[in-house]
Amino acid sequence: MPNSNSIDLIERAQKLLKQQSEIFGFFNVDIVGKTQIEFQSDSEEPLNEDQSFKKQEVEETPLSYQSDTENNPPSIQDLITSCTTLDELKELCLKAEELQTDLEHTNLVFGVGNPSADLMIIGEAPGENEDKQGEPFVGVAGQLLDKILKSIDFDRSEIYIANILKHRPPNNRDPKPEERERSLPYLIRQIELINPKLILCVGRVSGTTLLGKDDTLKSMRQKFHDFRGRELMVTYHPAALLRNSQWKRPTWEDVQMLRARYDELLAQS
Ligand code: URA
Repeated sequence: MPNSNSIDLIERAQKLLKQQSEIFGFFNVDIVGKTQIEFQSDSEEPLNEDQSFKKQEVEETPLSYQSDTENNPPSIQDLITSCTTLDELKELCLKAEELQTDLEHTNLVFGVGNPSADLMIIGEAPGENEDKQGEPFVGVAGQLLDKILKSIDFDRSEIYIANILKHRPPNNRDPKPEERERSLPYLIRQIELINPKLILCVGRVSGTTLLGKDDTLKSMRQKFHDFRGRELMVTYHPAALLRNSQWKRPTWEDVQMLRARYDELLAQS
């Protein structure tokens, strides 16, 4: 039997939860008679931390990772490493539920371009147009990216373009750290298979994810970083240039530097 102290404690907890729900608005507290918390399930909205944790608890192991060797299933990393072509990796990505965001029914945006390109460009995540067409950078930001590439004498067909995430996040929000973490091993294998001499990260999310450090874009640009034995440069995202034209000049300087290094590396090989 609960004593008066525990009833008092429950009532205080209920009051606190109700106050929090009024401020943050992400759960309802039914205080009429019973202690019950119900999560709202608007699938279009980004899940908050508590919701995504709850979702993971009920999720079954994706079929693609079940092995017939019940006691010794291959790890996800084993499956990724076993891909020896981009087509095999794409097949694996198509089945990988962990690459999906909390926006349902999105298409895989694997990557596009020359499979043995010496330059690879990595953006953040697909947007609405990219999701529809299954190809990265096909919207307005993509058109600007094409112009930037043209200004340094590159055609889209010569290079390879991919994103940190292979599925569109809801409302084009920034990829969550756990989404980036789950996608990264697939992207790393993709980079290994393409084997570019140079990587250009567009935007802070792309740069910080691949470099594994939380730097500002300003401090990452204008230099070549080491990424697993390859050279990597970071510059502004084309969508950021559409919003802030003052970043066009520094982007121009970055891509000039990139082109010069590209020519140098190709001359050496
Ligand atoms: N922005 C990105 O980062 N990637 C895309 O594919 C499109 C827009």
